[in-house]
Amino acid sequence: MTNKYMYFVANWKMFGDLRTLNSLDSIIKFSNANKKNKLKIVYCPPNTLIRPLSKRLKKTKLEVGAQNCHENENYGAFTGSVNAGMLKNVGAKYIILGHSENRQSGETDKLINLKIKSAIKSGLKIIFCIGETLVEKKNKKTNQVLAKQINNGLKSIKNKSNIILAYEPVWSIGTGLIPKSNDLLKSVSFIKNRFGKKPPKILYGGSVNSNNVAQLKDIDIIDGFLIGGASQSSKKFIDIIKKTFN
Ligand code: PEP
Repeated sequence: MTNKYMYFVANWKMFGDLRTLNSLDSIIKFSNANKKNKLKIVYCPPNTLIRPLSKRLKKTKLEVGAQNCHENENYGAFTGSVNAGMLKNVGAKYIILGHSENRQSGETDKLINLKIKSAIKSGLKIIFCIGETLVEKKNKKTNQVLAKQINNGLKSIKNKSNIILAYEPVWSIGTGLIPKSNDLLKSVSFIKNRFGKKPPKILYGGSVNSNNVAQLKDIDIIDGFLIGGASQSSKKFIDIIKKTFN
């Protein structure tokens, strides 16, 4: 039985439209009825749904986040982009940054660092994703990669109080594979230890579902989960939450 505060962050990626919001009635009901568990639920839909979702969740305990932003904190001629302040303005309280799907399409540690800084200035809480690829894992480079992503991504950021880490092995995202418990414990401990006396919250992400969450939640230095595919179904998402607290 988990007795600490647990985060459940839904990353909807590029899925969902206005009709999808109707499917959230059951999670709202579940969250309203759930008085005993320490639970923080954050939905990160595509930008098009941030405003309508935050309106719908107004009188609930559920919160809304974004999935990425432009690094420039000011307005500017950046076609197709939005900055952190604009996302905050329409209701986002959190933002996922450094997701491997964006790293794979060219986002560098340096760019992620600029984005994190602009999101901090805008008052958003950051869910900063890090994780190794399969090749890096096979070459026993996991710790080296994590250290580099943390050092460069958080370079010259002194106040880290609004930063949550999400350890997401790239080979685990969307594949149905999760790390062995021992490996996961080692990686999360490694991340935590890099922050000295005041470690951030650390989430695990990568193929979390209601069948494997019992195994994952046993690693009690994990503070919650970042959930992609399974978060698109309220039923699956609720099942994951229930099994976490069982
Ligand atoms: C993610 O994209 O952050 C993620 C964890 O996806 P999935 O749960 O589908 O592996």
